[in-house]
Amino acid sequence: MKIAVFPGSFDPITIGHEDIINRGTELFDKVIVAIGVNSSKKYMHSLDERLEMLRKTFKDNNKVEVDTYKGLTVEYCKDKKANFLLRGLRTTGDFEFEQSIATMNAKLVPDVETIFLMSNPQHSAVSSTIVRDIIRNNGNASQFLPQNIR
Ligand code: ADP
Repeated sequence: MKIAVFPGSFDPITIGHEDIINRGTELFDKVIVAIGVNSSKKYMHSLDERLEMLRKTFKDNNKVEVDTYKGLTVEYCKDKKANFLLRGLRTTGDFEFEQSIATMNAKLVPDVETIFLMSNPQHSAVSSTIVRDIIRNNGNASQFLPQNIR
């Protein structure tokens, strides 16, 4: 089984994440969408709300599993017997950030390969941060959210 972990905060999940995850299921037997729990970070949506949004988004894709984890992402991958870490790339800014994480993760756990999928150009400006700003200011962010949770 080729298993990939797609880690993130998903506060909230956007159409950008959804697209990368669905494309990931074409490449892997299973994609585990895993919410990293970081107690020092402030979130807009509770862990339960974020889990619920993920479950609803992928209710029809049986190759997607939804989970939470604490600690190092690469250790979680080992626990799950996942040899791949899936990430999305929108911009050169994402690339610079992701490159150092991927390089250090490869040193920590060489068995886990980080795989990047380029964002669909239509989604390259979509970010959870801006979606939260829209929601906070009473705007309508539904076009940036997966169909199942609009
Ligand atoms: P983090 O807390 O790590 O920022 P996110 O939930 O925002 O977590 O993102 C998780 C992953 O999704 C990252 O690899 C990020 O680059 C990717 N991603 C976020 N938004 C998009 C998008 N619009 N298109 C493609 N990939 C995206």
